[in-house]
Amino acid sequence: MINKIETVSLKTLGCRLNQSESDCILDSLIKNGLTHVSDDQNPDLIIINSCAVTKQAEAKTRGAITAAKKKSPMGKLVVVGCYPQESAEKVLAIPEVDLVLGNHEKYKIIDYLPSLEKISHEEKEHCVSNMLDSNVDNYTFPIANICSAGSTTRAFMKVQDGCGYFCSYCIIPYLRGSVRSRNISDCIDETKLLVDKGYKEIVLSGINLGTYKAETGENLAGLLKKMLAETDIKRIRLSSIEPNLISSDLLEIIAHEKRICRQLHIPLQHGSDRILKLMNRKYKSSDYKSLIEKIKNQIPDICIGADVIVGFPGERDDDFFEMLKMLEDLALSYLHVFRYSKRPGTKASQFKENVKNSVKKERSKILRDLSLKKQKKFFDSFVNEKLEVLFEKKDKHGFYIGHSDNYIEVAVKNNKNLINQIIYVKVCKVLEDKVEGELLVE
Ligand code: SF4
Repeated sequence: MINKIETVSLKTLGCRLNQSESDCILDSLIKNGLTHVSDDQNPDLIIINSCAVTKQAEAKTRGAITAAKKKSPMGKLVVVGCYPQESAEKVLAIPEVDLVLGNHEKYKIIDYLPSLEKISHEEKEHCVSNMLDSNVDNYTFPIANICSAGSTTRAFMKVQDGCGYFCSYCIIPYLRGSVRSRNISDCIDETKLLVDKGYKEIVLSGINLGTYKAETGENLAGLLKKMLAETDIKRIRLSSIEPNLISSDLLEIIAHEKRICRQLHIPLQHGSDRILKLMNRKYKSSDYKSLIEKIKNQIPDICIGADVIVGFPGERDDDFFEMLKMLEDLALSYLHVFRYSKRPGTKASQFKENVKNSVKKERSKILRDLSLKKQKKFFDSFVNEKLEVLFEKKDKHGFYIGHSDNYIEVAVKNNKNLINQIIYVKVCKVLEDKVEGELLVE
């Protein structure tokens, strides 16, 4: 039995946004006197910041709960975020869990500690607001003073939350609520804080980042302009943006501002217009194709990635091959391939024509192989070229590992410590998942 909760460990599952939110949760607990420890140091409090975007994500969350409790049997276990938001009952039914908090409540764990200290394991607590009803604004964008545990080079900064698109397969609007944007002065303050702490790169994150709209009227391009003008951050990278939200203004900035990374992740989801319509996406395949061509013409060395889903209900062979052909032709650098996973409560969960698992697997393999080919082709195009790399760590073989602004992983052998430095590298050869290079300037 724990008398006083003094130490905490935190495990994050899912997206980059969850990571940045975990940093905020941890920061507030540390400010309230708790000590952050690793999960093998018998923490008094174990937090699992969960994901429920797919069935697999839920299974991973359950696995993380069991593993954490095995390591620290005496710790109180709190599950927060999207899995409780999707089904508090399912999480409460997991024997190891002591407290369950939703997306609205997760920043207030500190308020629950006194009762958590008192209750026995049999008496569970939970609090999960309906994200579509509640007034969530006050707790959406706390400023973190520590960022991106495990990284001292790149910080994820949440500037937007929620989504009102309601794609038919997606549970996120129900878990995250309506669109909210962080005000610009807070974004600038946090950027300055991160620069002072030595971070070189900030990744702007959101659930539907392209819908960013500040109280003062600025859109995402406006936010970037202000961050460039008012802070000394060396690099800004954008997380995923919906294709219909990529403005000419945004492309202008990426094309002309060296401090904005030349990388865009633009979800496609499918290449058949019939399926895109069933998915309730806001564009046709021809719009997406024209967009990629326009971007590549304007910013030739840009890295463009895409999410695609195979096995959406009703996806026939001809739909899949239409998507395959489209993807083969497009100048994308990599694909994130997802197998459709039914999410109860979504419109698509009512659709009847389910695709067999074996077919989903086969289609997914074809697209993953294509992704590897595309990645290799992209890497090959930089052999003997110069890339600007931010080094993040040293691997066990003695290579310094970093990423170029256009998101190529680069390995370099060097005697001096390169971590957290931005340096030009000449690409010498292409390895399986990265390139090897040599420093041009030490
Ligand atoms: S844009 Fe569509 S896929 Fe993305 S979070 Fe919103 S509903 Fe989900």
